[in-house]
Amino acid sequence: METKVVVCPGCGKRNRVAGEGEGRVPVCGFCKTPLLKPGLTDLNGSVFEGFLLGDPKPLVVDFYAPWCAPCRAMAPVMEALAAGHPELRVGKVNIDQEMGLAERFGVASVPTILFFRGGNVEGRQTGALSQQALERLLQEWGKK
Ligand SMILES: [Zn+2]
Repeated sequence: METKVVVCPGCGKRNRVAGEGEGRVPVCGFCKTPLLKPGLTDLNGSVFEGFLLGDPKPLVVDFYAPWCAPCRAMAPVMEALAAGHPELRVGKVNIDQEMGLAERFGVASVPTILFFRGGNVEGRQTGALSQQALERLLQEWGKK
């Protein structure tokens, strides 16, 4: 059976997972967080690195703050992106809780969307935008 290594979004540990699909969501052997859960992943400083490098799929991250109205407008756009694009991984980072990550990537205002490929930032967008506009940007970044 084909197996793959998945980084747990909960604890950052590597799990070997067999047989995707079949309506079964595998859970982390260490902390029981569901793995391969489709949709938006909440990322924090302790799992970010492992998550970023743990899967070759590009990763789109929404840096947001709970008090920011444009960020709230972006939330459903990111949810829709995660639901509609299995070829991407989509995550979000709360900059109030994860100041280290915000600093590391030079996120000075929110929302900021970063597009990572191969562990590197390949695209950056500051300010809320429509899903259509975001998808256009992602297409451009993906071509680089
Ligand atoms: Zn875990």
